[in-house]
Amino acid sequence: MSEHWLIAGANRGIGLELVRQLIARGDRVTASVRNDEARAALAAKLAPQHAEVETLVFDSRDFEAVSKAARSAGAGFDVVFANAGAFGPSPQTVLNMDFGAALDLFSINTLGPLRVAEAFLPRLKGAANPRIALMSSELGSMANKNPGAAIYSATKAALNKLAQCLAEELSPQGVTVVALHPGWVKTDMGGPNAPLGVTESAAGLLATIDGLSLNDSGGFLNYRGETVPW
Ligand code: NDP
Repeated sequence: MSEHWLIAGANRGIGLELVRQLIARGDRVTASVRNDEARAALAAKLAPQHAEVETLVFDSRDFEAVSKAARSAGAGFDVVFANAGAFGPSPQTVLNMDFGAALDLFSINTLGPLRVAEAFLPRLKGAANPRIALMSSELGSMANKNPGAAIYSATKAALNKLAQCLAEELSPQGVTVVALHPGWVKTDMGGPNAPLGVTESAAGLLATIDGLSLNDSGGFLNYRGETVPW
């Protein structure tokens, strides 16, 4: 059954591959990018299928822009996937923290997905199986002690908690909310040494989201559909 997906942060990396695979399997896709330059680049990357994809422009730090885009989107959605994210400065330690950069990263990685979720929530009304997927990372897991990514990891840990809270709040409305880990993936962010390609990661994420029901809400799952420890 064809569904309508929002993929936020779709001009490169995992987001772009999600869009490609959704088009290939016949789903309807709305893709968000940050500016007109990225919109043109996305159209070129998707050609000739770009005509099938509606594009919205917003920076996920700007709630007004996100809300305006949500109101302007052509049709109701089945799945809202807040994928956009950034790594920030590198390396990242707690001591000598660049506090300005840290605040910006929390705005992008923690609050950005929630701005998207809140703004697009009314557009899930009427969906048979409404789902909100928030792109997290296993670096946000308390069980993970990877050094050098202190701020990024904290932004994703905070997102995980808020995803769990949102799942509780939306459960009475029948909306499923999950935090997802895509694997360590070869993208601009993941770097060339990552073991996983975008094709496998995106395919796994789509299969995981396809299989979600309200019973899964509040979970933290990887691209194989397995539970990730908080
Ligand atoms: P990329 O760096 O390849 O792509 C990031 C995407 O997010 C781009 O489309 C970028 O747009 C967009 N974006 C960044 N900041 C903003 C913003 N303020 N507003 C709107 N869009 C924004 O990353 P990946 O594809 O690798 O990562 C996608 C998601 O997966 C992220 O949330 C990341 O944290 C997460 N993740 C990735 C892992 C990996 O190994 N790659 C591992 C674990 C999690 P623009 O081009 O304009 O910057």
